[in-house]
Amino acid sequence: MLQTTSIKDVLKNYFGYDSFRPNQEAVISNLLSGKDSLAIMPTGGGKSLCFQLPAIYLEGTAIVISPLIALMKDQVDALHTNGVSAAFFNSSQPEHEQQKVLKDLENGELDLFYVAPESLFLLENVLGTIKINLFAIDEAHCISSWGHDFRPAYTRLGTLKKQFPDVPVIALTATADKATQTDILNQLSIPKAKRFISSFDRANLYLDVRAGQNRIKQILGFLKNRASESGIVYCLSRKSTEKLADKLNASGFEAKAYHAGLSSEERNNIQDDFVNDRVPVIVATIAFGMGIDKSNVRWVIHYNMPKNIEGYYQEIGRGGRDGLAAHALLFYSYADVIQLRKFAEGTATQEVQLAKLERMQQFSEALSCRRKALLNYFGEYIYEDCANCDICKSPPQYFDGTLLAQKVCSVITRLKEQESIGMVIDVLRGAKNATVFNKGYQNIKTYGAITDVSWIDLQQYVIQLLNQGVLEIWFHENGRLLLTPMAKRILFEGHKVQLAHLGEKQKQEVTAAPT
Ligand code: ADP
Ligand code: ZN
Repeated sequence: MLQTTSIKDVLKNYFGYDSFRPNQEAVISNLLSGKDSLAIMPTGGGKSLCFQLPAIYLEGTAIVISPLIALMKDQVDALHTNGVSAAFFNSSQPEHEQQKVLKDLENGELDLFYVAPESLFLLENVLGTIKINLFAIDEAHCISSWGHDFRPAYTRLGTLKKQFPDVPVIALTATADKATQTDILNQLSIPKAKRFISSFDRANLYLDVRAGQNRIKQILGFLKNRASESGIVYCLSRKSTEKLADKLNASGFEAKAYHAGLSSEERNNIQDDFVNDRVPVIVATIAFGMGIDKSNVRWVIHYNMPKNIEGYYQEIGRGGRDGLAAHALLFYSYADVIQLRKFAEGTATQEVQLAKLERMQQFSEALSCRRKALLNYFGEYIYEDCANCDICKSPPQYFDGTLLAQKVCSVITRLKEQESIGMVIDVLRGAKNATVFNKGYQNIKTYGAITDVSWIDLQQYVIQLLNQGVLEIWFHENGRLLLTPMAKRILFEGHKVQLAHLGEKQKQEVTAAPT
């Protein structure tokens, strides 16, 4: 490409757009200056353009690592439509097609080359001989066992930076909590990469969490005035999707079940009917919705609790894409928590999965603005309540918890952010047990700073601080408690904290016993 052309020209000429979406230009500039980047953007935020545009603008070929064959094909087709030379390579292609693509790659005829991580290493020899202008790692959370969709093949990508130290790497994902973000960069050997985090707020989604008793009755009530609206109900099992769809149909609401047990033809038909407004309601397992683009989904119900906040966020994100109001309703039940725990136990990433599940549970039990809790989880801090969630709509009784919060933050500081919630509470309450004494924590200045609150109540207040974004959990290493920028405001800038009084309900829901 002629360097007299600007990136704005490329944007217009190849993509037909006049302006960039938030963060796109900053990400692209960073790439063009040869630096590594991590771009976290919500689905639909325009991640692809962040590497496609530089791929066209720069000399050479961009290597794009993407986990889903279907997505690769869609992107390459779209690029062809825009007159960009691109191709993909994966194990499902016939041999002659693979050969043709490789030849084009070797001859420098491609601006973009898409490849699955499993296939990338078949190409090691070729990659050494061509001019590569960037590596893009799409769905980069797959590299982290702390993420929610770990794929072992991704872990080999860490060697790319070592083999090609001068080629900038861009990692992209729509879902990575803060711990996972750091892990992604370490694993890709680009620890200093600049992070670009777009806002995850979907202000038009009303966030609502209700107790899971009589769910079916509650759902029928919810649907009463929503007869013709499109919506999705997510369930944990195939069986419950079918049972629920039957019940909805029997009550006069047209609904179809969707799950991995159906043939791909059946699934495509159902998807098609939904997208084209022929069937208003889909009752699905989590398999539904990946890659479908439907703007007028007016509500999303979680019949069962999702196993982590990433999943929850992704699924509710299928509602209200047109920007109009949409309702996200989550049914929370302790039975689901137990079921999900069983799924996690014995897996390779059990520790992280259980910690994420616990965070999901805490979100469901939150006594402060849900949106704050949700955004904080992804490392985005908002200081105002949202006025568009169930808690903001009918808040519990609050008291001034500033002093308590300051004490909690101060203990965490003195513990150098190395300890988990249990130890933090022990130190705050001046516990006299062997672990505390062995570590010498009785000598900490704020040891025993809170003596008039029970262990269990204090645990609840700390969880409230987590949900409010004052603290966060580092999932690895026993779930250490860390302070966020908000904690610093509380400690040093007189920022006030409201805590909710603990009703009987919260006390009963506490599950972890003091140690
Ligand atoms: P993501 O991968 O983040 O989910 P995509 O890259 O698929 O999102 O982009 C979502 C949609 O937004 C696509 O239809 C894309 O063409 C469009 N898009 C991307 N960038 C822009 C822009 N600067 N202006 C207008 N539309 C854009
Ligand atoms: Zn709110």
